[in-house]
Amino acid sequence: MSQSHIALEKIAELLGPEGWLTAPDRRAPYEREWRGYWNGSCLGVARPCDTAAVAQVVKLATNAEIPIVPHGGNTGLVAGGVPRNGIVISTEQVASVRRLDATNATVTVDAGCVLSTIQQVAADAGFYFPLSLGAEDSCRIGGNISTNAGGIAVLRYGSMRNLVLGLEVVLPDGRVWDGLRTLRKDNTGYDLKQLFIGAEGTLGVITGAVLKLFPAIRETVTALAGVGSWTEGLLLMNRLKSSAGETMSACEAMSREALSLAFDHISGLATPFENSYPLCVLVELTATRSDGNIAAVAEQALSAALEAGIARDIVIAQSEAQRATLWRLREAIPEAQSRRGASIKHDIAVPLSAIPSFVDQAGRYVRRRLPSTGVIAFGHLGDGNLHFNLSQPPGMSRDVFLGHWDEITSTVHDIAVQAGGSFSAEHGIGEIKRCELARLRSPVEIDMMRAIKQAFDPRGLMNPGKIIPD
Ligand code: FAD
Repeated sequence: MSQSHIALEKIAELLGPEGWLTAPDRRAPYEREWRGYWNGSCLGVARPCDTAAVAQVVKLATNAEIPIVPHGGNTGLVAGGVPRNGIVISTEQVASVRRLDATNATVTVDAGCVLSTIQQVAADAGFYFPLSLGAEDSCRIGGNISTNAGGIAVLRYGSMRNLVLGLEVVLPDGRVWDGLRTLRKDNTGYDLKQLFIGAEGTLGVITGAVLKLFPAIRETVTALAGVGSWTEGLLLMNRLKSSAGETMSACEAMSREALSLAFDHISGLATPFENSYPLCVLVELTATRSDGNIAAVAEQALSAALEAGIARDIVIAQSEAQRATLWRLREAIPEAQSRRGASIKHDIAVPLSAIPSFVDQAGRYVRRRLPSTGVIAFGHLGDGNLHFNLSQPPGMSRDVFLGHWDEITSTVHDIAVQAGGSFSAEHGIGEIKRCELARLRSPVEIDMMRAIKQAFDPRGLMNPGKIIPD
């Protein structure tokens, strides 16, 4: 019997039949990217129940030179969790909330906790955990940390990097690093946790985390404004920022084309305006006191923007139901895109000032190259992070359209990078953007990344084929 065969048998024995899945139909959901764009295969799926079991599985696998692909909720968008060989380690059974510490305003969780569970646990204790994104009912905090997830509240609270105080990680050799500290200040050499945040499972398996909690939100004001252009959208946002200060927690933008796609494909969406505008900007102000102050600020700033001709139309949600209706517009866009057909997605960031020229330049390029393609631009305006997505043109087959993926994305990424931006703002590199990393980042940066990978995982067994270019 080979060494790897023996290791797999030991893993099966350790985890039992529900903890070690090898039947093709049980493996299948872990082998494919959730949209079905990328499919892989693995020898089996390990579902350990605690950190010690994760460590034992990692040790058995890596001693036998078996590659490991960590999994959270498998909602990632860059094929980071698609196994090409080896085993998957799913954290779905390592999913307890370990401790909520009200004095320190922290919560210590297992890596497999679903994001919305953590939000709820925080709310139940009178706190707020700000990471929020469309996949929050299925993504898991270990996946959020490993992709340095962003979402809709980065403007005020920062991305995952700003929300983690400590980590527990199983290293590729099976040792457990207990870095579950709750400190707000700790200047003791390299900040090791930051290496694992955004590492997409290439340096180890995150098994636990200490997260920052914030005071509960007691008042929320949500408004939608119709504006004439991306430039006007930015003007409106900056006006609101200067009035609302740090109470501005979200600023999302949706182009006319993105919204009309949503209206065409998702039933029950209500448009709050009689006219359609080139861009709609969704803003949210939140406060920890419910004294009506932010409502007054929002009303005053939005009315002034209307009078100045920066905003063309405005609606302020008057109830929780109206707030949900406005957010539904934003959330419906990705859903509508998958109903319309295949998409080529870009997750770019540019300096705020470069957003209008990026949208203009990239839009003109796409329409010239593939006329009738739906150019669906929307996203986190406050962070300069746009989802510049393209929808399959009517009359073109899915395969022909997707066949243009590399050519189109490389030009769109070039336009973003030339504007001082990034080709991956919040989704990571995974498997699909590795070549772009090699093309668009300097040899010095890639060498530093390789050196870090080599130091932690000299045999290259942790999520091979992800992030680091060949
Ligand atoms: P997975 O998909 O399981 O894994 C992602 C990567 O992390 C893989 O490389 C995997 O190997 C690694 N990994 C997972 N768990 C661990 C672990 N415990 N230890 C080490 N490595 C691990 N992303 C945003 O940033 N902002 C958004 O607004 C956003 N919106 C989304 C909306 C929708 C509808 C969908 C489907 C996705 C969205 N995403 C967004 C992308 C995705 O939800 C995030 O990347 C999320 O953080 C992934 O979490 P997951 O648990 O699903 O991770």
